Amino acid sequence: MQLVEALCNKDDYSNIPGLWVKKSDGSIAKNEMLMLTENLDALPLPDFRNMQSSYVIENEKCRNEEPYYNDSLTHYNFITARGCPFRCDFCSNSIFYPMFKGKGRILRQRSVDNVIKELKNAKQHFKKLSSVSCNDELFGLDFSWLNEFCEKYKKEIGLSFHCDMHPSYVTEEKIAALAKMGLQTISMGIQSGVERTRLEVFGRNTPDSIILNAATLFKKYKVFPSYDLILDNPLENEEDVRKTLYFMLQLPGRFSLNVSVL
Ligand code: SF4
Repeated sequence: MQLVEALCNKDDYSNIPGLWVKKSDGSIAKNEMLMLTENLDALPLPDFRNMQSSYVIENEKCRNEEPYYNDSLTHYNFITARGCPFRCDFCSNSIFYPMFKGKGRILRQRSVDNVIKELKNAKQHFKKLSSVSCNDELFGLDFSWLNEFCEKYKKEIGLSFHCDMHPSYVTEEKIAALAKMGLQTISMGIQSGVERTRLEVFGRNTPDSIILNAATLFKKYKVFPSYDLILDNPLENEEDVRKTLYFMLQLPGRFSLNVSVL
């Protein structure tokens, strides 16, 4: 906001917290990080009313057009929280933790009513909407929040639902509540089928038993999972790759893979 205001007023923006600015003399102004926004409910909801004022810059040309939030939108992405309680070594969150040390709570959650209000707006505005996807780093960490969300979502939104969960936070009561509400698909990070790699290389303390338990619950409640794997890992040998394959073959039910390369 401060940057937009400074640009509009043609003011100097090189001292705005949170920015590094390369100046005309080649020096770099490295400003302090901003405090993290604590109250996410205070942020404005997306405003879809005036999409004629959207512009796209593509191939060095600017067009007056809204390529995504238009009448043909069938799927809507949103978040209910910012931050993650984990710091997996391959993830940006492992960098954000030290960067924002002393700048407020890392994990912040919107209220259920605030999220439902956004989804109601989207549903009302985009007539072809048939599914939504929650893009929180990890959804449903707190069961009482999740329970309230599931009840209100089912009553007031009722569209097909997708989210990402961490194996350590998957419980039967959560998956049962989500499935009842409309959870169709879920993403979950496994990253490697080898416990040693998960713990010692990736900094993820998720034993095989926890992953197997989550996969069993997805099958039981007919939720189709997509599992994240990190392959081509120079810190794993051929035997580890084989172990990952056998581990994945043990998982119950059908699933898809989302594969990244290290
Ligand atoms: S749990 Fe997921 S989002 Fe959180 S730090 Fe690990 S990889 Fe990143």
